[in-house]
Amino acid sequence: MEPRSAAAAGRDFPYTARTTCYIEIHRDGRVTHGTDRATYERAVAGESRLYAVWPGEWSSHLFAIDDLDEYAKAHGIKHDVQRTGPAEHVHQVRWAESSGEQNPRSPYVGIEVSLACGCEIQSLDVFAAQMREQKGWAVATSVGWGSSSGPEGTTYSLRVRRKSLTA
Ligand SMILES: [Zn+2]
Repeated sequence: MEPRSAAAAGRDFPYTARTTCYIEIHRDGRVTHGTDRATYERAVAGESRLYAVWPGEWSSHLFAIDDLDEYAKAHGIKHDVQRTGPAEHVHQVRWAESSGEQNPRSPYVGIEVSLACGCEIQSLDVFAAQMREQKGWAVATSVGWGSSSGPEGTTYSLRVRRKSLTA
């Protein structure tokens, strides 16, 4: 049976329907049925191939999960504003103090932030509100902020009240 393309079905593909059964075929021939981040990462890396059975009314069809981006968004592995909205999503924030000069007397500290969840900061006000809620950070919104893109994604330079930086 030649699998159909889930990508061709687009957003109509029932990625999260309870009746959709996933089949992950590993390189060694092992078959598992997970839908977690590890499954996604193996499929992206080409270490396994992902299929899904979509049970139809009269017959079931085998689909190749060939749009892994859409799959990851549907399962919340990657954030999708259109699906979940920014407020319901908890960012996976990686941060470190900026290596540049810091004023130790300033209540604010410069940090470099990257978002492992794949989000991009569109508005500092929105991001600051999210960080206040999710991490308790007090992000300075009245000062400039910057971003730089590299092979590892986008890094943002922000200023955050030092005492609020606990997590
Ligand atoms: Zn995010």
